Amino acid sequence: MSLRLPPDDERDLLRERADDHFHDECGVVGVHGHPEASQIAYLGLYALQHRGQESCGIVSSNGHEQSVHRGMGLVSDTFHERTLARLPGRHAVGHVRYSTSGETSLRNAQPFYATTDSGPVAIAHNGNLVNARPIRRELESRGAIFSTSADSEVIVHLLARSRERTPEERLIDALSRVKGAFSLVMLTDDALVAARDPYGFRPLVLGRLDGAWVVASETCALDLMDAHYERDLEPGEVVVIRRGRLRTLRPFAPAPREAFCIFEYIYFARPDSNLRRHNVYAFRKELGRSLAREHPVAVDMVVPVLDSGAAAAMGFAEEAGIPYEMALIRNHYVQRTFIQPAESIRHFGVRVKHNPVHGILPGKRVVLVDDSIVRGTTLKKIVQMFRASGASEVHVRISSPPTVGPCHYGIDTPTREELIAHNSSVEEIRDAIGADSLGYLSLDALRTTAASLKGGFCDACFSDDYPVPVEARGDTPQLALFREVVDEEDAP
Ligand code: AMP
Repeated sequence: MSLRLPPDDERDLLRERADDHFHDECGVVGVHGHPEASQIAYLGLYALQHRGQESCGIVSSNGHEQSVHRGMGLVSDTFHERTLARLPGRHAVGHVRYSTSGETSLRNAQPFYATTDSGPVAIAHNGNLVNARPIRRELESRGAIFSTSADSEVIVHLLARSRERTPEERLIDALSRVKGAFSLVMLTDDALVAARDPYGFRPLVLGRLDGAWVVASETCALDLMDAHYERDLEPGEVVVIRRGRLRTLRPFAPAPREAFCIFEYIYFARPDSNLRRHNVYAFRKELGRSLAREHPVAVDMVVPVLDSGAAAAMGFAEEAGIPYEMALIRNHYVQRTFIQPAESIRHFGVRVKHNPVHGILPGKRVVLVDDSIVRGTTLKKIVQMFRASGASEVHVRISSPPTVGPCHYGIDTPTREELIAHNSSVEEIRDAIGADSLGYLSLDALRTTAASLKGGFCDACFSDDYPVPVEARGDTPQLALFREVVDEEDAP
């Protein structure tokens, strides 16, 4: 592996990208006290693959030594029986990550690990910190050397420098200095620590498995581990599990309100998961019902934009009494990397993933239901394809309000300027995607539906009401100026 400094224009590009997209989507797991800890962590990550597909990793501990394996790509490609056998011990933490920062690098793969003078620690973090930049600048000015461009690394540095005694006290000290979203797990040589920020932006659940403790981003991971759901971690809660005993701490100043990410319910979490004891699929269906009441339309069929729109479309169809048809097929085997054809096949990226069922569309009026519109490129192409298949009318309904702002707390969204709803009216968006009509669920209807879930939400991407402001963005970390060049012989 060699490092080279890109020429000026590439450097600017990297800087721009790193500034614009500093948002990682992630999933985390932790296991304490199981003879097959790394295998259990592997299963958990496997179930959480939808939360990040770019890199993954597991760190295990046998009580006095930690072992680590991290790799680029999917969990199933990165871990094999052989690899897991080399991750011994009764405790483990794991992480899946996706980022569009332009930094598709193993260096940023988590868990991060370090040896501190209170012992080895490994940390897996989900969420984005809004003051990572200023903290990083401050630490760098005092000589800290960062080895990744991920904001999670500041937690490791703060922990290593803390004057507290135990690793968990040091973690709490570090977390007291950061702001924003964290649902994280930390492994020490003999303990598993799990923590949620006081706003509770991202999910984190606790489960039991044959006397062992497990922690995961979503309950679908507990299902695959065959673990029993115990409860969600509360906002601001830290649990320390050592020698099989769980201790709960509430070390942080309480937040003014709970701000659980509403988009986890709308799109990000798996529908078979329960978030704060509420089933995601059922909630999405409920949104579809509200949408049908708010924006009724006379059509022959309701068609889900798979997979994201499936549950909302089901609710829409039931409420409207219109047949639900799978008239859009999704190819599930599309990888991130495929050989792009010549540019002459327009919108190939969308077409390779979705294809209408031409045979049932001629002369039919359809309503396409999806969960959200980001840039508008997917729906534009799908509407075009439906018209080309002979549909007489193509309407679009979206089971969330217009996405007007980026997420600063851990969902990967493009810059505000790239969001089609940022500077276009609903009518302009309808025109841009070429639909006969377009209806978004209103913010009021979303909030009314969400009220049944109990507990406060963050809906900043729809309302522009950000619970925690982003602090001085600062310069791009120096590291972003380097690009890893992998020798061809090293490439898989
Ligand atoms: P776009 O073509 O940019 O409008 O993207 C819209 C599609 O992206 C919808 O089908 C959404 O379900 C999906 N989507 C929304 N948010 C995200 C996200 N953070 N990451 C990946 N896909 C998303």
